[in-house]
Amino acid sequence: MKNRAFPQTKKLIVANWKMNPESLKEAKKLFTIIKKKNFNTRKLIAVICPPYLFESDLAMNYSGGKYKFGFQDIHFESDEKSTGEISTEMAKNSKVEYVIIGHSERRYNGETNDLVSKKINKTIKSGMTPIVCIGEEERDEHGRYLRFIERQIFESLDGISKVNLAKIVIAYEPIWAIGKGKSSVEAREIYQMTIFIKKILNNLVGKNIAMNIPILYGGSVDADNTKDIIEMGEVDGLLVGRSSLNPHIFGDILNNLG
Ligand code: PEP
Repeated sequence: MKNRAFPQTKKLIVANWKMNPESLKEAKKLFTIIKKKNFNTRKLIAVICPPYLFESDLAMNYSGGKYKFGFQDIHFESDEKSTGEISTEMAKNSKVEYVIIGHSERRYNGETNDLVSKKINKTIKSGMTPIVCIGEEERDEHGRYLRFIERQIFESLDGISKVNLAKIVIAYEPIWAIGKGKSSVEAREIYQMTIFIKKILNNLVGKNIAMNIPILYGGSVDADNTKDIIEMGEVDGLLVGRSSLNPHIFGDILNNLG
């Protein structure tokens, strides 16, 4: 499909550095080691999402092309009166190609589905790829979490045209599995959720587009569980938090797949 966010033959591996490290010097050091890690670019797209403050310096001084850059959030308008915000124009000018939107840690701090939808639209309009995070806080035996996910998808993607929906990436991140250690989630559970998410997308946009929206998994990914999650979970890539801050573990994750 022409407008798919990235080719079906590749996996997207996204490093979310969150609010780390504490200085530009450390960020440069981290990226210097990561840059040396080899992986197969025919099989993988690797995206580094440092804090805004460091991204520009890293991206502008990098000419390798092997690694792509992303932001962890974005503002939804270009109003110059938005104190403290970062615009999509700034992102584009700093070589940003991907934007994480609606991460659970932002949703926890008040980011609504409505805001997520606006940010998705603005990101696509500016020519970047939104990585839209969804995920339940906990599971229950009555399956209420499934209804929660369904509502989160419907509301977060509300007001986005079909043409634009074909360009998004979904990241399924069960909040209960984030930062918890490798055995917190089974590849089988991830597979069940990818099927469920595809079904919801199917109802929303039809099979043709739904089958071409890539689904990533995020939550306690490390070098040991990477392959199982990708192969048995049947996901199109990974969103990696803590493990992306250790350049050797992140390098192993890439190496295991590429
Ligand atoms: C995240 O916060 O997006 C994440 C996946 O974190 P971790 O890999 O540390 O669980």
